[in-house]
Amino acid sequence: MPERILVVEDEEKMARIVELELSHEGYEVTKCSDGLTGLQCAEQNDFDLILLDIMLPVLSGIEVLRRLRKSKSTPVILLTARDEVVDKVLGLDSGAEDYVTKPFSIEELLARIRAALRTSAARNAKTADENMGSDNVVLAVGELSLDIGKHAVFYAGENIELTPREFELLRCLLENKGMALTRDALLDKVWGYDYIGETNAVDVYVRFLRSKIDEKYGVKLISTVRGA
Ligand code: CA
Repeated sequence: MPERILVVEDEEKMARIVELELSHEGYEVTKCSDGLTGLQCAEQNDFDLILLDIMLPVLSGIEVLRRLRKSKSTPVILLTARDEVVDKVLGLDSGAEDYVTKPFSIEELLARIRAALRTSAARNAKTADENMGSDNVVLAVGELSLDIGKHAVFYAGENIELTPREFELLRCLLENKGMALTRDALLDKVWGYDYIGETNAVDVYVRFLRSKIDEKYGVKLISTVRGA
């Protein structure tokens, strides 16, 4: 069955080119040209991936993503303009898988799409594996614990809400407790070997984890080793 991609983009020419190229690659493409229609379409169907423009009429891409995440975990790649740095961070924090900066080459877009689809397939397989296992593995340090089976994180018994990527990053750090991991190692383990985005993603996500754990609870569980 062809993988289904939803393209939410208000620039008609751009949307048409993307549709043409993706269809040519064998994907089944659906297009929406404003945020609200895009959100409804994403909620009512099961897409394998969503390409989501940030600057959209009616509802912004970030708002679409926030609302969508209440019910669906469909991987999302944001399409951003060059200087929308704040929006990129907001977007990642709201649960986007990746972002591509306009103008992009179609080869770059296709590579990001393949990477995001592979990551999501691997995650689904892993979740299915874990659900099969009877042991509930819990990783912990200090008052912090991460329950792999339940996909939940607690600090002193209090539940901490993490996005799927933040969860994977924290899990990786806990599995390697006490060791320094390079940005590249984290990218490999958490984002996948073929991740071709910016290594900056690691810094951004470590910042998210620090604000949700270290800063919130006044502890220092995540340390940076300079040069390593
Ligand atoms: Ca736009």
